[in-house]
Amino acid sequence: MSPADRAPAARRTRAAGAVMCFDVEVRRVSRIGANFQRITFAGSCLAEFGVQGRTDDLRIKIVLPSRTPDGRVLPLPDFDCADPRWYQDWLQLDPSVRGAMRTYTVRAARCSGPEPEIDVDFVLHFDADGVGGPASSWAAEAQPGDRVAIIGPNAANCVTAEAYGGIEWRPGLARHVLLAGDETAVPAITAILEQLPADVTGYALLEVPDPADIQPVRTASGVGVRWLPREGRPHGTLLEGAVRTAVALPGGALPLPRTGQEPEEVDVDQTILWETPQRLDPEVLKSSANPHAPAGALPFYAWIAGEAAVVRGLRRYLVRDAGIDRKQVAFMGYWREGRAEG
Ligand SMILES: Cc1cc2nc3c(=O)[nH]c(=O)nc-3n(C[C@H](O)[C@H](O)[C@H](O)COP(=O)(O)OP(=O)(O)OC[C@H]3O[C@@H](n4cnc5c(N)ncnc54)[C@H](O)[C@@H]3O)c2cc1C
Repeated sequence: MSPADRAPAARRTRAAGAVMCFDVEVRRVSRIGANFQRITFAGSCLAEFGVQGRTDDLRIKIVLPSRTPDGRVLPLPDFDCADPRWYQDWLQLDPSVRGAMRTYTVRAARCSGPEPEIDVDFVLHFDADGVGGPASSWAAEAQPGDRVAIIGPNAANCVTAEAYGGIEWRPGLARHVLLAGDETAVPAITAILEQLPADVTGYALLEVPDPADIQPVRTASGVGVRWLPREGRPHGTLLEGAVRTAVALPGGALPLPRTGQEPEEVDVDQTILWETPQRLDPEVLKSSANPHAPAGALPFYAWIAGEAAVVRGLRRYLVRDAGIDRKQVAFMGYWREGRAEG
């Protein structure tokens, strides 16, 4: 059979670059919280998924299939991820057949065994009328055997996390950390915590909708984990209060180097709020003549993700009020209230 005769799935999984498309099926569906659905994806192609080293907050794109008006699931679209313009190619497809593409975190990857699998934890969010986005709705109804396409790292070509570009956790030399996020950041924060070494201390603050969303967390680190169930309060209020307590204003509890900068204003309705320091090699940092200059060389690092306006407020507090060097903080708007992704 010539390559041109292959089925679309085979064309999608062929890849030479750092990014690859994986045709997978749902293996298991587990309700792990009041508002969290864990979907375990499986497929022999996942043997080729991954980066060398820690996965931390590794992100992927998931392409969910379209449905016909009478509810029939259409085949996944055919596009070639080996092409660096794969996203533009996907956008060129007919919107009624290309499906929906959304960004998620790999909560866990078990790709080296005979039955490779990855877990993705979907927040089930629905508005007052019970309407959710395509991903939330898909996850709520997912059944073993359902198929999606995942765009993620091609292990053969991701010798480093940089080669893939989808890991933002970059503490550098910091041994004191702050992780703060809402429910969409829970998979990333819990995955990071599981991989943190024992000599790291600090706080992990996780705002979730409901006490029944609290999950057991395993970590060898000395990071204290605090869950903040909103129970109907406005999004972000508990998180903001907890961050203010954890990172006090100058003169406060944490021994943090403070610079005091005015972060430029970001219109979160027009722009994606995404500000992450460069990843620097710890060996380079250690040998730096001025350890306070480069990103990653200071003792404190913060990683903040969630609803964009909430993250913007935390950024203003940390950088302007508390005076944390912005080279030491990753700020990521994972979603924006009232706006669909893509
Ligand atoms: C790097 C990265 C990693 C992410 N990891 C995860 C993850 O592991 N798990 C996860 O659940 N999400 C994660 N997200 C967030 C997820 O991509 C968004 O929530 C996405 O919008 C969900 O798609 P949807 O089709 O359900 O809703 P969309 O069609 O995008 O949005 C429809 C409506 O729902 C609202 N909305 C979207 N998300 C939420 C929410 N969580 N709560 C309330 N309202 C919402 C939107 O504002 C919009 O009004 C991540 C995002 C990024 C950028």
